Amino acid sequence: MKRFPNLPTQPQLTSEAFYKNGMEVLEGFELFRESMSVLGRPIRAYVRGKGGIRVLIWTQMHGDESASTFAVVDFLHDLQQNTTDRIWDKVTLCVVPILNPDGAAAYTRYNGLGVDLNRDARHLTSPESAFLVSLATDFKPHWAFNMHDQRTIFAAGDTNNPATLALLAPSMSETYTGSVMHRKRAIALIGSAVSQLPKPFYSNIARFDDAFYPLAMGDFFQEKGIATVLVEVGGSENIIRHSGRTLAARFLKEALMVILNPSAQVWHSAPGTYESLPPNTNRLRDIIFANANIDHHIVDVAVQLRYNPIREAWDMVCDTVGKIDYYEAYIRIELADSPSLNSRQWRFSIGETFELPSEWETFWKEQNFASYQWVYSS
Ligand SMILES: [Zn+2]
Repeated sequence: MKRFPNLPTQPQLTSEAFYKNGMEVLEGFELFRESMSVLGRPIRAYVRGKGGIRVLIWTQMHGDESASTFAVVDFLHDLQQNTTDRIWDKVTLCVVPILNPDGAAAYTRYNGLGVDLNRDARHLTSPESAFLVSLATDFKPHWAFNMHDQRTIFAAGDTNNPATLALLAPSMSETYTGSVMHRKRAIALIGSAVSQLPKPFYSNIARFDDAFYPLAMGDFFQEKGIATVLVEVGGSENIIRHSGRTLAARFLKEALMVILNPSAQVWHSAPGTYESLPPNTNRLRDIIFANANIDHHIVDVAVQLRYNPIREAWDMVCDTVGKIDYYEAYIRIELADSPSLNSRQWRFSIGETFELPSEWETFWKEQNFASYQWVYSS
């Protein structure tokens, strides 16, 4: 699947950048609803098609999760390039690019009030959540795709393969008495769409944590009778999520094709496929400095990378110190031959910015950071 060229993958994607460079993928769509974010940025829902099957997709409910939008951009670009107009007789597609534009501008999960929109489905304290819930009422989707990015810490099951894509048919509360049909449909859809993907992708696809969060949007939609699929774009060998973008876009395409052309055989085999997806497991870290010598104590130091939108570069943040052989790393730097550090000079504080000790610089530079060049490119 070809990437849409005018929006190259970046950690941050603002709605201003999307409206400037991304509108081409919405050619043929019409503005359906418009609202305003807390800080006065537009939030828009676009619709195309006149088909009886209604599909809703929204992205970047969490402002700093840009890969979810890039995936939808590529999916729409692919529909333009590789499908005929006949699909629009079957489907009506509603897209909300960047539901949380204030969060996107500030590069944060939260909206302009500091609210996590994914915990706002019942109370609707924020205009962004109210907008989404009003779409459920007015557009009446049969299917919904709730697009997110997940942290790079997740692997697919008991492997060290990054969970580049994690999927979930959200749970409904145990006390929910309505039909569970729509959740079963979401399960069948995920299984069917995954089974259409090329086999090599399977090792990087996981099932997202299946806990019920009554305030979460996906759970809320599912309870409203809308078959809802949570899509989480995750880590891969390149931290700016090129691979996740492409894999999620392919998943969306296969999912739409399954929705439009439900062959009984595919649907029949699907729930097994969903249940057999390995769970997301917390077993990866971005960088591990292994066997560091601090006053002759031997420890490992795990570091996570956090994008800094002001510097437009990545900060290193200390994650774990100790012998941490239960984690694998995207980058592992072996320090067994490094000189001992003075603990009075170097103290690594969890959650704080990590500074590379000068004694480790040569070990750092010896590594081949083919896909991680950007880390130090500021
Ligand atoms: Zn999210």
